[in-house]
Amino acid sequence: MAKPTLLTVDDDPNVLKAIERDLRTRYGENYRVLRASSGDAGLQLLRELKVRNDAVALLLADQRMPQMDGIGFLSEARKVYPDAKRALLTAYADTSAAINAINDVNVHYFFLKPWDPPAQHLYPVIDDLLEDWTASYRPPYEGIRVLGTRWSPAAYDVRDFLARHQVPYQWIDVELSADDPEVKELIASIGDDVAHLPLTLFPDGTRMFHSSPAELAEKIGLRTRAETQFYDLAIVGGGPGGLAAAVYGASEGLKTVMIDREAPGGQAGLSSRIENYLGFPSGLSGADLARRAVMQAQRFGVEIIAPQEVVGLRSEGPYRILKLANGSEISCHAALVATGVQWRRLEVPGVDRLQGAGVYYGGGSQEASSYKGEPVYVVGGANSAGQAALNFAHYADKVVMLVRGDSLSTTMSRYLVDQIEKTPNIQVWTHAEVIEVHGASHLEEVSVQCSDTNTVERVPVSAMFIYIGALPQTDWLNGILERDELGFILAGPYLRKDGKRPEGWTLDREPFLLETSVPGVFVVGDVRHGSIKRVASAVGEGAIAVQFIHRYMAKV
Ligand SMILES: Cc1cc2nc3c(=O)[nH]c(=O)nc-3n(C[C@H](O)[C@H](O)[C@H](O)COP(=O)(O)OP(=O)(O)OC[C@H]3O[C@@H](n4cnc5c(N)ncnc54)[C@H](O)[C@@H]3O)c2cc1C
Repeated sequence: MAKPTLLTVDDDPNVLKAIERDLRTRYGENYRVLRASSGDAGLQLLRELKVRNDAVALLLADQRMPQMDGIGFLSEARKVYPDAKRALLTAYADTSAAINAINDVNVHYFFLKPWDPPAQHLYPVIDDLLEDWTASYRPPYEGIRVLGTRWSPAAYDVRDFLARHQVPYQWIDVELSADDPEVKELIASIGDDVAHLPLTLFPDGTRMFHSSPAELAEKIGLRTRAETQFYDLAIVGGGPGGLAAAVYGASEGLKTVMIDREAPGGQAGLSSRIENYLGFPSGLSGADLARRAVMQAQRFGVEIIAPQEVVGLRSEGPYRILKLANGSEISCHAALVATGVQWRRLEVPGVDRLQGAGVYYGGGSQEASSYKGEPVYVVGGANSAGQAALNFAHYADKVVMLVRGDSLSTTMSRYLVDQIEKTPNIQVWTHAEVIEVHGASHLEEVSVQCSDTNTVERVPVSAMFIYIGALPQTDWLNGILERDELGFILAGPYLRKDGKRPEGWTLDREPFLLETSVPGVFVVGDVRHGSIKRVASAVGEGAIAVQFIHRYMAKV
């Protein structure tokens, strides 16, 4: 933690050096002593400290300075650091100005020059001021801070990125907390650049406006490039399937790399509460599951590369080669595709324009608390929508589930339907379909087509979260692996057509259970044709695939 600052300001270099020396001697161990040679320089320094969220305990300024005198400096400095103790250094002749300052700008004390010996004329009072300051001091937040408005898609992207990578941060909504004195001071310190929000502030003072995932990844030290070029096992996708394969593979001696285009955790990482995963009777959040699995994988030496997208796959003799979006390649003995599924788009007017500004696909659980006391709409009637509705119900005034069918029971697990029925602020609106969303800069209203009454209702909405099923994104494997008409990848017995092995299959054995149409390339989890879309199934398949990979590698 950075030490709180004592700032001394004087235009006379000799006085400045002397006071700095005396302060450092006595307080250097617990405080950082900084100096400035004019009021302007002092204010500039304070603004920088403010943006870094550093604490300032004491401001000590000489009264007689050209341009801005001590009282002028202290009254301006008070706007930036209202809680810092303020003291003046004065000549005897300025005593009455100093006394007036005590009243006018709330100066806490004035010292007469010279202050020798400091043990008698300086330290006792400063000790007292600092004691007083410490008593009401709350240490500032020391991590990453993100400033923006909740309707800004760019701000949402930054927060989503940090949350999915499990990086703690403080979110400052500059509109909602516009009256907060600390936020006011922070915005004043940022100056005109405030027009370029969102801004990510790092504890080392780095400021990033509109930061991209790549910039954030580099700044927080994520690995986006492979350490070496060759691995026994390369896994594409870091959801439960990929993570399980990584843990089993690495723990059984395979040099393993796992690449994810967003963050490890996959879809499961977005789940607010997984209640049906074995061994967790009261459920656990997807983020928690992801965090535990990532730690486990790292413990076994898995190299995790994220965010980085895999865009191609080819074979060269016994090697499988993955092409990454940054142009680099990774070779391996065996590759495993565990890329899961991605949200289906809701194709109605306004959705694309307002995405991130009130309209969200999925929506991380960190979003829920932003809608305290407001109406939230959830589109969809399957388990993921049910979990989200229950989560939002803790915060939102009212949660409305828009469901096309006539009830939830055909699409959702019983335990979720029961919980929803018992939650008074969740309303299930059946026979309802979103046909348009409205709002200039952010979502304001939704038009809902009611199929039972054949009417359209336009309702006010703060946020709408879409959970309408998902499809695989496997176009990058087109012509390489056999897929079904929706893009799910075929493996094992599904590859047999008319009793024949897949085209181009050269080995004198059948493809293993989870092996694709290319020997040595395996597939697990939601992206596999015929899979059961569950965390436990993906985890089980990840573990099983590793056994087949051992058998494959034994004969390469
Ligand atoms: C909100 C929600 C709640 C859910 N709740 C439950 C529940 O309570 N219980 C339950 O059993 N199941 C639940 N599920 C389903 C469960 O999460 C999935 O079945 C499971 O996550 C599938 O795991 P997977 O490893 O196959 O793929 P995913 O979890 O989909 O992970 C795939 C990963 O691959 C990455 N990826 C995709 N393409 C590429 C590429 N080209 N390059 C690199 N990386 C790529 C993605 O970024 C993603 O991280 C829920 C799903 C959702 C969305």
